[in-house]
Amino acid sequence: MFHKILIANRGEIACRVAATARRLGIQTVAVYSDADAKAKHVQVCDEAVHVGGNTPKESYLQWQRIIAAAQATGAEAIHPGYGFLSENEDFAKACSEAGLVFIGPPASAIQAMGLKAESKRLMEKAGVPLVPGYHGKDQDPVLLHSEADRIGYPVLIKASAGGGGKGMRIVERSEDFSAALQSCQREAINSFGDDNVLIEKYVQRPRHIEIQVFGDQQGDVVYLFERDCSVQRRHQKVLEEAPAPGMTAALRKQMGEAAVAAAKAVGYVGAGTVEFIVEQPGGYDKPEEMRFYFMEMNTRLQVEHPVTEAITGTDLVEWQLRVASGEPLPKTQAQLQLTGHAIEARINAENPDNDFLPATGHLRIYRKPQASAFEVSDVRVDDGVREGDSISPYYDSMIAKLIVRGNTRDEALQRLDEALAQLHIVGLANNVQFLRRTIKTPSFAQAKLDTALIPREAEQLFNQTPWPVGFSIAAAIAHTLNQEQVTAKDGDPFSHHDAWRAWGAAKRFFLFTKDDQKYIAQLSYLADGLHLRVDTQGKSAQQVFDGPFSYSATADALQLNLAEHASQVHVYRSGQTIDVFAAAGHDSLVSVDPLLQSDEHAESGRLTAPMPGKVVAFTVQAGDAVKKGQALAVMEAMKMEHTILAPKDGVVAELLFAPGDQVMDGAELLSLVAE
Ligand code: ADP
Ligand code: ADP
Ligand code: MG
Repeated sequence: MFHKILIANRGEIACRVAATARRLGIQTVAVYSDADAKAKHVQVCDEAVHVGGNTPKESYLQWQRIIAAAQATGAEAIHPGYGFLSENEDFAKACSEAGLVFIGPPASAIQAMGLKAESKRLMEKAGVPLVPGYHGKDQDPVLLHSEADRIGYPVLIKASAGGGGKGMRIVERSEDFSAALQSCQREAINSFGDDNVLIEKYVQRPRHIEIQVFGDQQGDVVYLFERDCSVQRRHQKVLEEAPAPGMTAALRKQMGEAAVAAAKAVGYVGAGTVEFIVEQPGGYDKPEEMRFYFMEMNTRLQVEHPVTEAITGTDLVEWQLRVASGEPLPKTQAQLQLTGHAIEARINAENPDNDFLPATGHLRIYRKPQASAFEVSDVRVDDGVREGDSISPYYDSMIAKLIVRGNTRDEALQRLDEALAQLHIVGLANNVQFLRRTIKTPSFAQAKLDTALIPREAEQLFNQTPWPVGFSIAAAIAHTLNQEQVTAKDGDPFSHHDAWRAWGAAKRFFLFTKDDQKYIAQLSYLADGLHLRVDTQGKSAQQVFDGPFSYSATADALQLNLAEHASQVHVYRSGQTIDVFAAAGHDSLVSVDPLLQSDEHAESGRLTAPMPGKVVAFTVQAGDAVKKGQALAVMEAMKMEHTILAPKDGVVAELLFAPGDQVMDGAELLSLVAE
């Protein structure tokens, strides 16, 4: 076994690898970018080497520097994590040439599976079922079009070098094919430097079911069962579970053996995942009619590997380290057992209500449920951040992974909801409440899974409020009163916040705003206790709450009694912003100091970058007349492209950046003037 390894990654996966290494008594070396100088992964490793600037290209993809760092620190092996260099065959080769062990498959296997089209040609030979389609070398557009016509619409055009849900276009009709092909090729060349495509039949309501495989240097390959990753947005996974609901023993064996055949066909060693798209022509209730087709193989440890660890009781990073150091697989196929049910939720900095736009910012509050980190348990949180850290624009938007385990799927679901309710994140947009709503939809709760689950359940998922605004206001007031009492108890002689306890002053007013609506709250001290009344402020004022109010403080929460209903709330205040968490959800509002009321900023009409990132292209030129909603520019940030739309009709006066420029959050991209 190794004595020291270098971890060529960041964030949760770097911390996760370090945790297993530590348990096995292996020393760890971290690498870090400028932006990550104080990151958690640097802190948890024994040593750390700075490898460059902020962007991945300047740092985590600088493989010469990373290899030099391993040599300088005396590390014997490099763990690439996922993303970055993990599927780079040149890096794998360079490691062995430098006398270092690459903890992953041989470069030849990475290469064989690197391009989707070539891997499909290989799988076809190995007898693995494929989605009907075209994956030939000839890229003549006329031929591609006639192939699409032959396959039958809808079809999916995929960048052969694609990944992370990028470079895919669904084509519904033959007349749309050429435009979609061009746009797919453009994205493919920009993102992957390779515009080869393949065409697949677009499977309707499919499930994404993948098989975890593991090979050793002795030539043995086993499968560690399946994961269902059907719940996706933008073709990217959001919730992953194992085992796949409705999976039959026969199908599991068939898919497992197909995956092992795929791995053996390329001489696979280490952890890998064979992804299948699964058709369910008989609907959700007839799993025996499910048909599976090879989609691609990911030649690395997958983000969602913890669910497999949870149901098999294994540590897959330990397996990786043992296999890479030459040991045989820790278990044979017959020794591998599947018990219980596990679900992983990806906690992302993004705004589900705004098309999942990634967000950046500080984790002002980051409170986690009672959980273990990086090891199998009923509730597990894997992360690479701490409270106060920031999610920067340079890397992807994942904050953490929450993994739960139960004896049954229902038990796991219950645990997941409780754990999500205890996960309090303040400071940036995130998908925690969206995930809670998703797991409660009839589709998810009843395991009617397919990749269209989120759009199908959209009505319950987007733009939801957890409770009437009066509840948030009451919680905010309870928090304020409690803070005042705490301050008063501390004996601060300068505290004058005792108005409500001076019974003579029987009323106190508070102002709040939420979603551009102002609210006035009136707290009255009556003989039988406190009474709260909340009205909207404005022309036609409406009462939104009227009833008895009381609260009490517990160790870390507030017990709020509102109109005879008791609930536990956690309230966080920062400046004027108040965040309220309770069993039913999360809400935030702004407290307005009545003495400081100022006019709202007038609409400036500037066209600004919604986030820091790179300008990919302008779709208009100076002088163009544009209509409201028309695409003006494309930006790339956090591994995704974002189209900037015209907020109103007008004429483009000037483009203020050029394609390729890096821009800051809020930077004005172009000026738009009235016609
Ligand atoms: P999956 O199919 O498992 O969702 P992805 O292809 O989306 O995998 O990428 C896996 C992970 O690799 C991401 O979630 C991210 O953490 C990491 N990653 C990949 N590329 C980058 C990058 N350029 N910057 C930061 N992280 C990256
Ligand atoms: P990536 O490399 O980006 O992960 P994949 O080929 O694995 O690309 O596909 C990503 C997702 O796109 C799948 O999980 C699935 O939801 C969807 N998808 C891929 N191929 C098909 C298909 N032929 N029919 C329907 N959906 C598909
Ligand atoms: Mg994939």
